[in-house]
Amino acid sequence: MSNHVIDEAKRCLQCKDPRCIKGCPVSTDIRGTIALFRESRIEEAGEKLFANNPLSLVCSYVCPQESQCEGHCVLGIKGNPVQFSIIENYVSDYYLGLIGEREINIEKNGMKAAVIGSGPAGITISFILAQCGYDVTIFEGNDKIGGVLRYGIPEFRLPKSVLDRLKKALSVYGVSVRPNTRIGMNLTVDDLFRDGYKAIFIGTGVWRPYRLSLPGESYGNVHYAIDYLRNPDVYELGDRVTVVGGGNTAIDVARTVVRHGCHDVTLVFNRAEEKLTACKKEVEFAKIDGVKFLFGKDTKRFTENGIITTDCEENADGKLEDVPGTETLIPSDSTIIAVGQGPFSVIVRSTSGIDVNERGLVAVDADGRTTREGVFASGDVVTGAKTVVEAVKVSKRVAEAMDRYMRGLGCAQKV
Ligand SMILES: Cc1cc2nc3c(=O)[nH]c(=O)nc-3n(C[C@H](O)[C@H](O)[C@H](O)COP(=O)(O)OP(=O)(O)OC[C@H]3O[C@@H](n4cnc5c(N)ncnc54)[C@H](O)[C@@H]3O)c2cc1C
Repeated sequence: MSNHVIDEAKRCLQCKDPRCIKGCPVSTDIRGTIALFRESRIEEAGEKLFANNPLSLVCSYVCPQESQCEGHCVLGIKGNPVQFSIIENYVSDYYLGLIGEREINIEKNGMKAAVIGSGPAGITISFILAQCGYDVTIFEGNDKIGGVLRYGIPEFRLPKSVLDRLKKALSVYGVSVRPNTRIGMNLTVDDLFRDGYKAIFIGTGVWRPYRLSLPGESYGNVHYAIDYLRNPDVYELGDRVTVVGGGNTAIDVARTVVRHGCHDVTLVFNRAEEKLTACKKEVEFAKIDGVKFLFGKDTKRFTENGIITTDCEENADGKLEDVPGTETLIPSDSTIIAVGQGPFSVIVRSTSGIDVNERGLVAVDADGRTTREGVFASGDVVTGAKTVVEAVKVSKRVAEAMDRYMRGLGCAQKV
């Protein structure tokens, strides 16, 4: 593996106008990082990556590189692109190890900031604000940090140890975490303001599974993807499992079910294969793992013995139309529905002044300001389900806006 990393770094052409950087949503200095790596200046390379994206190690595992940096590499036009992900992985892994052992002295500015949610958005905001001198407390509803990174993306794609190391790095930066604390249930945003937090960040993601609202959906053998992925070990799914959906979550579920001992897994999608929204690479892996795919089948209801579907076709307007007389039972012991997620509204319901849109997503301006003064938001709770790197990109801008806002308060009061 390490040899391969070196070979890949050597293949980089160090383009004058690097296309790879343009392909990266956070404009990672890929050329500069590889140059430093080649000169054995790995610590500087790591520092560069971390300063631009505190989640660079996570991104090296889960970014859709084929459509981002690697998809834009000039070498990919006629051959294989430089596999930057493995270089980023090697460098970031090394650097995160260094941070964990450090003592970092940051001059405090006397102000407290609250971060609700410890997914990619909350982690990014916390690192940046901590570096600016704020006393940052993360309020996390779960027992551990990471959000979807820990309770959604399976271990075989992203080792959870990465998140434990990020937690260590956060404490090196002086960020404290209050686990098992779901804001809006007991403590509210108003309580946080009362207790002296000057700005509050909401990065609570989307955890409410969309339902299909079909007969049988409440049966004991029907489950929702995000609930299943949270803790697959507790489910007894039987020998045949059907997954309904066509995105990355559906693929993660199918591959996880296979890894939990069920080798008859069928993914049922209502459109054609080219309409799958999951990354091509992940779909290929699912096929290698033995997952079967059924396309053009619309789920109609759930039964104790499987799901009832009808064949369907897309009309000229892109709408699905059933083919009459094609009702079929797809036999399965359990079904997992993976058709997307929306936000829970506990914070908004418990706090006045924070507007949401018709999908329940928090309404913000370009800098992540919500309609309540001093409250900011970014990540999936604002955009709906997106990617890790998109959450990082926007959160960097929001952290700067929070910093400007708190400095503007002019209150270098002691905490
Ligand atoms: C199964 C799955 C696979 C994915 N795979 C990929 C991938 O391969 N690559 C990629 O780039 N993206 C992937 N994504 C998308 C990506 O993980 C998300 O876009 C990203 O995690 C969003 O980050 P976030 O910080 O906005 O929210 P989240 O990661 O959802 O984190 C929100 C956090 O807030 C906490 N929280 C919620 N409500 C409260 C409350 N009231 N009080 C306190 N804490 C609260 C939650 O417990 C959670 O820890 C995947 C998503 C899923 C569901």
